[in-house]
Amino acid sequence: MKNVIVIGAGPAGLMASIKLAEMGHKVTVFESMPKIARKLGISGKGRGNITNSCSYEEFLKHFNNNGRFLKTAFRCFFNTDLINFFRNEGITTTEERGGRIFIGSGRATDAVNALHKALLKRKINLMVNSPVSELLIDNRTCLGVSSNGRQHRSDAVILATGGKSYPATGSTGQGYELAKACGHSIVTPLPSLVALKCDTDLSSIQSVSLKNISAELRVENKKVSAKFGELNFTDGNLGGPIILSLSREAVPAINSGKNCAIILDLKPALDSEKLDARILRDIEIKKHENLLSLMRGFLPIDLCYFFINKLSLSYKLKVSDLTKNVRMLIKSGLKELKFNLVDYCKWENAIVTSGGVSTKEIVATTMESKLIKNLYFCGEIIDIDADTGGFNLQAAFSTGYLAALSLNSKVD
Ligand SMILES: Cc1cc2nc3c(=O)[nH]c(=O)nc-3n(C[C@H](O)[C@H](O)[C@H](O)COP(=O)(O)OP(=O)(O)OC[C@H]3O[C@@H](n4cnc5c(N)ncnc54)[C@H](O)[C@@H]3O)c2cc1C
Repeated sequence: MKNVIVIGAGPAGLMASIKLAEMGHKVTVFESMPKIARKLGISGKGRGNITNSCSYEEFLKHFNNNGRFLKTAFRCFFNTDLINFFRNEGITTTEERGGRIFIGSGRATDAVNALHKALLKRKINLMVNSPVSELLIDNRTCLGVSSNGRQHRSDAVILATGGKSYPATGSTGQGYELAKACGHSIVTPLPSLVALKCDTDLSSIQSVSLKNISAELRVENKKVSAKFGELNFTDGNLGGPIILSLSREAVPAINSGKNCAIILDLKPALDSEKLDARILRDIEIKKHENLLSLMRGFLPIDLCYFFINKLSLSYKLKVSDLTKNVRMLIKSGLKELKFNLVDYCKWENAIVTSGGVSTKEIVATTMESKLIKNLYFCGEIIDIDADTGGFNLQAAFSTGYLAALSLNSKVD
């Protein structure tokens, strides 16, 4: 039996703790917050999108370049294993659009409560309000931790402190300092899956949400990526699922001072020719009305005013007076509405962190540090991040599971 300390009671640390305790080890979890897994509790808009039903190959495609690092973790514990794990803890799941698996009750906090019960059932020692401030290292070996001015010894330590996003949930990036202090390299953490800021005032369309549209990210005028789906303008930023996905490539580009823009195709189902024919048809039907009335046939009303202003036109313009040039302007506005990006929202609003402890210094088949003996990593603290869709939580649970498994089989 090993005496193991886990730092961080998020999905990664909790899975590692539960698995280790099941295998007969003595586990103590240090959590800086008064309660466990606050981020899991608000995940998926409070509904907990814990994984995705897609295949292993498809799953890996949703991660950054380090997706390969997760191969063993996913082979050991994948989506159906996670669903079964929760089922055994009394939590059902339900599948939605895009293979997204949510907590069946619609409450992510039910998953948190189930994990809490699982800790109690397995007699895991949970120390809340106990931030770890130091790893005890001697001769390149981890011997335990310091918390609240006291030292605690153990046979191994698992660092599962998460990233830097949503710091109010407890993940403040302190784990990076602990890893750095014992020699680990940190790939610069940046907010990811985050709303983007542009140079246009979007306050008049804050309540507009658009479905089935295409958005393209251009960096230095070159198409880098494109997504189809839902977008919104909440808080005067470009947001919603497709923008969050594009932010994974937009944030590093903005950060390095590159010229970035989002181009919206508001009518992706119509090619340029068909759209022109449709505009011409509507002009004929609405020839006695004004431009606002014409645009209402194409866009939600709030967006009509914004759109007409953005094209520097007047909504009172008579449809019968529209020139060919104006018609072409409208058509290209609908197909290529451009927003120059100037910034991105900060840590407080980012769903995940890109960057973190370098995967080059962690053994992918065990999650053990290559630099410090008896130190393991799991979850978002590692330089891995993925799209929305349940991929990030699965990575946290899977790496936690693998850390426990390899610690169990390790012979000293
Ligand atoms: C609003 C929001 C919605 C999300 N929705 C989804 C979703 O639906 N699907 C999905 O796949 N992903 C989602 N994510 C991402 C997902 O929640 C994270 O990737 C996941 O929680 C990471 O798990 P973790 O255990 O590595 O870290 P965390 O969940 O961040 O847990 C780390 C824990 O460590 C503790 N800690 C930190 N430092 C210390 C210290 N020094 N000492 C002791 N304890 C410490 C923290 O308090 C925290 O409890 C969402 C994220 C946010 C912010």
